Order: sequence, then structure tokens, then C-alpha cells
Amino acid sequence: MAKIQLQYLSDEVAKLREQGLYQKLRILEGEQRPLARFDGREVINLSSNNYLGLTTHPKLKRRALEAIERFGVGSGAVRTIAGTMTLHMELEKKIAEFKQVEGAVVFQSGFTANAGTVQAIIGPDDFIISDELNHASIIDGCRLSKAQIRRFPHKDCGGCEKVLQSLTGQKGRKLLITDGVFSMDGDIAPLPQLVELAERYGCIMMIDDAHASGVLGRNGRGTVDHFSLHGRVDIQVGTLSKAIGALGGYVCSTHGAIEFLYHRARPFLFSTSHPPSVAATCLAAFELLDEEPQLVAKLWENTRFFKRGLSNLGFDTGASETPITPVMVGDAALAHQFSRELFEAGVFAQGIGYPTVPQGKARIRTIVTASHTREELERALEILETVGKKLHIL
Ligand SMILES: *Cc1c(COP(=O)(O)O)cnc(C)c1O
Repeated sequence: MAKIQLQYLSDEVAKLREQGLYQKLRILEGEQRPLARFDGREVINLSSNNYLGLTTHPKLKRRALEAIERFGVGSGAVRTIAGTMTLHMELEKKIAEFKQVEGAVVFQSGFTANAGTVQAIIGPDDFIISDELNHASIIDGCRLSKAQIRRFPHKDCGGCEKVLQSLTGQKGRKLLITDGVFSMDGDIAPLPQLVELAERYGCIMMIDDAHASGVLGRNGRGTVDHFSLHGRVDIQVGTLSKAIGALGGYVCSTHGAIEFLYHRARPFLFSTSHPPSVAATCLAAFELLDEEPQLVAKLWENTRFFKRGLSNLGFDTGASETPITPVMVGDAALAHQFSRELFEAGVFAQGIGYPTVPQGKARIRTIVTASHTREELERALEILETVGKKLHIL
């Protein structure tokens, strides 16, 4: 074993430790719930993306078990060879209907949906105009496409238009791409204005709705529905891993674009499709969004209650407009200490610092779900107040 060849990796990790950036994985012992056991401690969980509480929904569990009994535990192949099952086709049809689009294709994750799609539809002679805070999976897709990448300042439509003007006369295709809800700040993209720019400057408009699906719009139909922009966004990406409660990602677009992705999106071609249980779970989740609209309503009721509580206490919650609510701290070391002490006191809210967010903008990030009880949220606010005062954040 030539361990010496890998010493540099251990050295890098040691450096992270020295800088206080080493992250120990917290271990969830049991189900992903609002009150959950991590590292041997029962805590109020403000760190999951389980917006609607679907990870443990009885109907979804039952459908997953039924699918295992009927179809086994794995699909056994990639979609393009022998791994397309009836359930996969049913799920794509269901998603397309739900999102009111011509077609949908399911990927193994939201990450591969973004990276695989951007890489497939855009090439070296083209341009990508991208919000500077877009998700890593979009950034990787952009890099893999070898297109020229032009970033515009976060949510700055004037800045975006400047970039588009600078590309006037260029031959390549233009892809304008943004997150729908930004994952660290919980703010919403200015989609109506961006769509207008895309139309005016002849861009393909693409949105990553990972944190908006199941959260924004009628029954959680996403940002396009929230802003009533149906038919004006060319490509919508969503995830099945957050509000939908299982795992996966999807792309919604025209029939032609979906068929193209069937032939050219590399994760679709070269990585095995979902086990039937995952596809069945997701199908049941989309049915549930229409059957139980009170879930999304409860999510927003809890969100409003918790946000109001945080601001009444005097915390700075930044630009958040969604259930993702940062509590701004500034200093990264302090944010991590805040998170650690909250955990000891019974609240799990992840500390986030540079390089995930800009220097000086460290925070803890809280996400409430539809399944938190009022008592749990009240208790969480009390603990946040006590620890916040102790650390002079309040
Ligand atoms: C979480 C996330 C993804 C990735 O989705 P997964 O299904 O977890 O791979 C993509 N984009 C954004 C904005 C996200 O927050």
C-alpha cells in the first residue's frame, strides 16, 4: 500500500481542523422527523429539507413496501438499456401533469438533473448567464458544457441585462439560469423580470426549483406557478429529495427536449435508474400534494410563526422569504459555536460559513417543516433566545 501517495489528503484535513473548518458528520439515529435523535441526543430538528414531513408519511412507506414486494429492490440497469420500469414512466407522466408541462424526465438526483441537463443542451460555442449564488450542481453542469460562463450579481436584473447586452451579436446560444429559491438565504429569484429578459434577448430560460417544489405555488407547484409564468420558462428542474421526501431529480420541458435528454444526458445514459420503491414513493408524494393541500398551508403557517418569533426576539433573518430562514451571525467561528451550543441545548440548526457563504456572512440556517408542532417551534425559539443572549448575538 503506497499510503505515502495519499498523505497530502490527510494534510489537507489537518489544515481544516486547524482552521476550525473541520465538520464532523452528525448521525441521525432513527427517522428524519421534527423531533429527532442525532448523536445520541433528542433535538428539535431545524436542519432537514423534509418540508412536508413526507420522509415518514405512512402512505409513502406503504407504497414503497408494495413496490418492493411486486417489483424487487433494484431496477438492474440504466434507463436506456433495460432499466426503464412502468413505475418510472408513470412517475414522469405524473410530474408532467403536476407541473403542467409537455414532458418530464427523472434523474437519480437533483444534482445529476442539473449537471446532466446543462452539459447536454449547451456546448463550447455557447454562453451561460448565471446568478452568482446558483447551486453547485448548476456550476458543475456549466463547467462540463465548456460554454462561456458569465455570472451576474445575485438577483440583479440590471446586472443580468448588462451581461446580455455585452453578448449582442455573438453567435452562440444563450442559457439564462437561476435557482428558484436560494438555498442559503431563502430568497426567491426575480423570475418575472428574468423571463422577460430571456424573451427579449433570445435566451433559453432555465430554473432550478429544488427548494421551491412542494413549497411555492399552488399545492407546491413551484416558482413558475407562484409567479403565473406557465409556458414561459423553457426548462424547470426539481428535486424529489427535499419536499417530496425520497430521492431523485427531474427536468420538465417540451416533448422534444425530454427526448433529447433521453439520448444525451449522461447521468441518464450511464447511471442506473431508481429502485422501484423510490419511484413508487415519489408517485405517491405527488398524489398527496393534490390530496392534502393542507400540508403546504401548514408549512407556511409554521414558517410565518417561526419567522415572526425570530424577528420579535431581535434576530437578523437576512433576505429570507421562504421556510429557509438564516439567523445571521457574521463571524464563522461564532456561527459554529452558536450551532454547537444550540445542539447541546436541544436545537439542531447547522452553522454555515465561508466558503459556502461569503466571508462575514456566516449564519445558522433554520428550516421549519409542516410537521413541527407549535410547542416545538416555541421551545426552539426559547432555546435560540437563551443561547443567543449567552453568546451576545442578541
Ligand atoms: C439540494 C439542491 C439540489 C440537489 O438536489 P438533490 O436531489 O439533493 O441532488 C439542486 N439544486 C438546489 C438549488 C438544491 O438546493
